[in-house]
Amino acid sequence: MDLYTLSGIREILARHGFKFSKSLGQNFLADENICVKIAESAALDKDFGVLEIGAGIGALTYSLSRAAARVCAVEIDRALTPVLAETVGDMDNVKIVFADILKTDISALVETEFSGLRRAVCANLPYYITSPVLAKLIECNKFEIITVMLQKEVAERLCALPGRPDYGAFSVFIQYYTNPEIQFTVPSSCFVPQPKVDSAVIRMTVRESPPVNVKSENLFFKVVRASFAQRRKL
Ligand code: SAM
Repeated sequence: MDLYTLSGIREILARHGFKFSKSLGQNFLADENICVKIAESAALDKDFGVLEIGAGIGALTYSLSRAAARVCAVEIDRALTPVLAETVGDMDNVKIVFADILKTDISALVETEFSGLRRAVCANLPYYITSPVLAKLIECNKFEIITVMLQKEVAERLCALPGRPDYGAFSVFIQYYTNPEIQFTVPSSCFVPQPKVDSAVIRMTVRESPPVNVKSENLFFKVVRASFAQRRKL
């Protein structure tokens, strides 16, 4: 089984009659080194349960299963069922849950799947839901480390410092709850099919306490959002 070459991926997908869905952000990694590098960037070990969002054909899932104690991957596309059964079905520390991550009770899922383990997220995100997924992962307050691949410009925005043109309300949100660091960039040539943009892997280490004290986080983020909305009008 060849999960990491163009011909290997095409062969397995064709055998199961699978068609890529652009609207589900299906750009699968076709580079074993990158999968290993992402799993290494996530700073996992066998004390961790890791949540993956979007298993695809299981390329990253495979690397994660070697690095962590358990992997639970939430995948929306049931058409991938026979493919994943073939690629990662034999791995006894991997569970695939077919569901929409945005409709999943993540807290309940990790309590059930990762009992007694430290918890992390590692994923090659479907880019169309980057912001709502990251907000959900942070707000559930269940993870120590969140490592994701996303569009390079978005990764730069999340790490941007005050005063930079790409510093915005979402940068404040991410930096309030986590310490984000870009790990490395990934050219579009490493995916099948190739996306139009380059990608970057970002590791967000969740802070034990926020960098500033605010009385009401709700009010704080309302003011932040309003301030940046105002900036766009100037
Ligand atoms: N992890 C694989 C890899 O690296 O090759 C696939 C990554 S691909 C960029 C994104 C995956 O997320 C696809 O398999 C897609 O079907 C899945 N996906 C898209 N929307 C989703 C959602 N709302 N919930 C769960 N999975 C989703």
